[in-house]
This record gives sequence, structure tokens and C-alpha cells, in this order.
Amino acid sequence: MSSLKSHFQTTIDRTISFVGIGVHSGDVAILKLKPTTQTRGIIFRRTDIPRDKGEVLARPYNVSNTTLSTTLTNDYGISVSTVEHLMAALFGCGIDNVIVEIDGPEIPILDGSAKDFVINIEQAGVRRLEKERSVLWVQRKVEVSDGDKSAMFLPSLSQSFSVSLDFPGTAIGQQSFRYDTNSLGFKQQIANARTFGFAEQVEALKEAGFAKGGLLSNAILVDKLKIVNQEQLRYKTEFARHKVLDAMGDLALSGYPIIADYHSHKGGHELNHKLVSKLMSDQRNWRLMTYTEYADLVGPHFITASDNVQSTTDERYRDNAQDYVCFKEG
Ligand SMILES: [Zn+2]
Repeated sequence: MSSLKSHFQTTIDRTISFVGIGVHSGDVAILKLKPTTQTRGIIFRRTDIPRDKGEVLARPYNVSNTTLSTTLTNDYGISVSTVEHLMAALFGCGIDNVIVEIDGPEIPILDGSAKDFVINIEQAGVRRLEKERSVLWVQRKVEVSDGDKSAMFLPSLSQSFSVSLDFPGTAIGQQSFRYDTNSLGFKQQIANARTFGFAEQVEALKEAGFAKGGLLSNAILVDKLKIVNQEQLRYKTEFARHKVLDAMGDLALSGYPIIADYHSHKGGHELNHKLVSKLMSDQRNWRLMTYTEYADLVGPHFITASDNVQSTTDERYRDNAQDYVCFKEG
């Protein structure tokens, strides 16, 4: 069952912790995901900053930088960077609300994918909250481009992500991947796909203050036609799948599941952010609706997670958590 087909908002069922380095800063950070009964979405809290200034909401208006990763900054100038893989993991696992505590400015990169986030969210379990979800339904085509790069939303009754890449003369070449959130395969198809970089750019990136924590254990390193990592690729199309992961994380910053077909060609964080901003800047582009309204729109074929739940009075829903989450997908 798709994590997105729940009428009710969710949080995680217990606190989970991670320790790791930031891929750009190279600094070690401790990250904790904590359950919350508030329905304010994903809230980052910098524990090294006084409480009244250290809260950064995952919202499009807080996106301050999209160079190589996505950074959020609040009104006090406090930032959290490289949020996209964690945002994608939470979105892919159907977690609407969580407190993300971190003792520094950058989310740990872990292995460069969302795998460890997803495994730990799975182990923590999912708790249902007594508030209905809303979705942002895209009513008309919205497109942004920059030279030969482009990203767009096309109206649809469901949600999909289609990405194509073109890096001629490299191990990536031309590749594309399409992921439909109804296909139930987030954990298997998307979450394991790692970020990547090019050997010839490493020195310049480090001189510019990026990739100080970039290692073969947290990114695929492409050296022309070769993959430098001993592990090699997890999928033939790992690069395109990672771009889907990034897009899921970037779009999740809208605060809602965006019901549309997302397409990207040679895109990235910057175009994703521009696309979400353009979508939301004109109310004729979208309609905010409750899950009940959305289910009515889709019609009788719309099946929800709650259809499989025997006791809807059990707030914790623990036994049926798999129905929300991406994990019991064959
Ligand atoms: Zn990424």
C-alpha cells in the first residue's frame, strides 16, 4: 500500500538517531528524528542555537541556497543544509510531521542515499495523527527552464516522477527513470540510489568550500567512463534514480504531496525549487484539497490504507504501520 494513500497525517512512533559527516562541510553532526503530535510538518531544530532562534521550518520560502544541495534558512539567518535526502525519506515513508534535531548546520550524508534513513524510520514505526492530510493538486501545466535544462508539472490524478539525464562521454551517458508513487517501490527503487560527483571537479569543488566530506563511502565518483568506487553501481540507472530521490525531497518542501506528473531533463535542486515556487505563485495553478476530496476526484478506484485497518480507534495503528510505509513492498 502506498505511503501516500493515507487519509490521516502521521509521525514516527519513537525517536531515532544518526551520527555522520556533512558531505559539504565535512563536519560530524548528531541528528535525531522525534515524534510530534503537532501537525506543522517537518521542523528542523538546531540544538547548538538558542531555542527561540534555532527552529527552521521545511517550507519553500525558507529555501536559501540550491547550489549542489538544498539549504533552508530562517528569519534569524539560521540554516540547515543538505536536507533533500532526509526530506525524500520522510516523504517516501509517508511521514508528515517530525521534529528534526541537529547539533550543526548540515544533515549527515550517511551513504549518499536515503537508505539508512528509511531503514531506521521503518524500525521506528509510524503513528497516525487525528488530522486529515491535504494534497496540492496541480490544475495546469507549470514549466521552468534554463538553457537545455527543464522541469515541469503536468496535471494528473496521481503522482509520478520522470527524470532524464545526459552526461556524454561519462559512465552516466543518457539515462532516464520514471517512478510512480502508486507503484509501492520507494524503498527498493529509489531510496538506495546514491548521490554522485565527477573526479575532474573534486579539487575545484573543495577549493570552493564544497564536498569537504565527500568520500567513496558516501558518493559515486565518476571518472569519465569509469566508476571509481569498489562497490560499483547499485542499479544501472542509479544516477537517474538519485535525481528522482532529490526531486522527491525538494518537492516535499512544498509541505504537501503534489499530485502531478513531474518531469525533469538535466534538472537539479535549483530548477526544482523554481518549479515549486512558480507553481505556488499563481493560485490558478493548484487546488488545495483534503484527502477525502481527492479520493472523490479520483473516483471508485481509489483505495486507501485505512481500508485494511480493523480498529480505527487505536491511535497508534502499529500493526498496520506497513500499510502506510514503503516497507512491505515485494
Ligand atoms: Zn542528492
